[in-house]
Amino acid sequence: MDATNNLSSPKKTARKKKKRGGSGSKKKMTAEQTLAFKSVSEWVFLEQHQASSAAASDDFGVSLVQKSIANKLLFELHSHSNCSDGFLSPSKLVERAHENGVKVLALTDHDTMSGIPEALEAARRHRIKIIPGVEISTKFYSRGGSAPEEPVHILAYYSSCGPTSFEDLEKFLSNIRDGRYLRAKNMVLKLNKLKFPLKWEHVAKIAGKGVAPGRVHVARAMVEAGYVENLKQAFARYLYDGGPAYSTGSEPLAEEAIKLICDTGGVAVLAHPWSLKNPVAIVKSLKEAGLHGIEVYRSDGKLAVYSDLADTYDLLKLGGSDYHGRGGHGESELGSVNLPVLVLRDFLKVARPIWCCSIRRILENYAEEPSDLNLARVTRFEKGGSHLSCGKDLIDRCFNLWLTSEERQNADFEAIRLKLSHVSIHKGGIQVLIEST
Ligand SMILES: [Zn+2]
Ligand SMILES: [Zn+2]
Repeated sequence: MDATNNLSSPKKTARKKKKRGGSGSKKKMTAEQTLAFKSVSEWVFLEQHQASSAAASDDFGVSLVQKSIANKLLFELHSHSNCSDGFLSPSKLVERAHENGVKVLALTDHDTMSGIPEALEAARRHRIKIIPGVEISTKFYSRGGSAPEEPVHILAYYSSCGPTSFEDLEKFLSNIRDGRYLRAKNMVLKLNKLKFPLKWEHVAKIAGKGVAPGRVHVARAMVEAGYVENLKQAFARYLYDGGPAYSTGSEPLAEEAIKLICDTGGVAVLAHPWSLKNPVAIVKSLKEAGLHGIEVYRSDGKLAVYSDLADTYDLLKLGGSDYHGRGGHGESELGSVNLPVLVLRDFLKVARPIWCCSIRRILENYAEEPSDLNLARVTRFEKGGSHLSCGKDLIDRCFNLWLTSEERQNADFEAIRLKLSHVSIHKGGIQVLIEST
């Protein structure tokens, strides 16, 4: 979410309560929960499990499950780095997630996936699983135009290989980012008219190189220039939705974003519905467009109103801290949202077939045409180039990270594996087709 929601939600800070021991009382799990726990941990510890079973035939897999039960499976599905308006770099964010016991982290920066490679690299050191994500800024128009347009944030969760057509998504996101520059410039102009001689360069410097500025960057510049005492005041007086210095960007329609997420192998989730004026109409319309879930959990627990809304429209109930690393102001800590294991199971039940299918599509393209371009599509998030030597390595890498043995035993994957076994990858990323012997 934008800073507004965090700052202007008194309930969130007032009702924030510390949960003792992270998971609360040690209640005995029901049979359903135990089963869910097993299936979720299988996916979470896939890589470690498979590395160990390849190395030796001990009972590492079993001990991992036991370990995960002792340690709890913590998913953080909503977080921001300084690639958008967060304060921590992707690697610092991963480090903090690790310290807080997070096992699966979705990096969901606003309108960009540029932090994913760095997050993945850091995650390898800390044995955290990264879900490549993005939070897309959109707007919603009610049908018939009876209600005013509303800003709506849509979270997208992708597989380890990212979107099936990264180019389509990237074009969509870069249009939004361009709109954000314009919007921030308009806000500066409005502030100038309100007799605050704020400089555009100041805002751009705070946002950082290559980062599309948002309201929070404008607010920080206002604080630094001494026009307001703090961020909260900047939002409450000038930058709130429809405020005197507020400006809209050129966001796409929420329905368009959801269709694109679905078409590119992602899971689409409505972020912080509590910041919407018109949540029922929005959820109804977005469900028709293909929405998979809505946020319902926060660090202060489950919000019954939105949970009921999710039930009405048969949507996944998810949530995350929406951590920005601002510190203070009662911000929810990274990993502070305890999603119940049944929620995690339901999420993976919907997401995994989607991700499995998208990995298959990306690998199939490469197997059909093993070009540099198609290789780059598979290894999109590898930092500093991959160290793969042949096509088989490539497919094993994708498998080990994300697919269970069950998901791999699939005729389509076998066909891809066969095709790729004849492809070798040179260090420079150049492929040579080797005649099959
Ligand atoms: Zn948001
Ligand atoms: Zn957010």
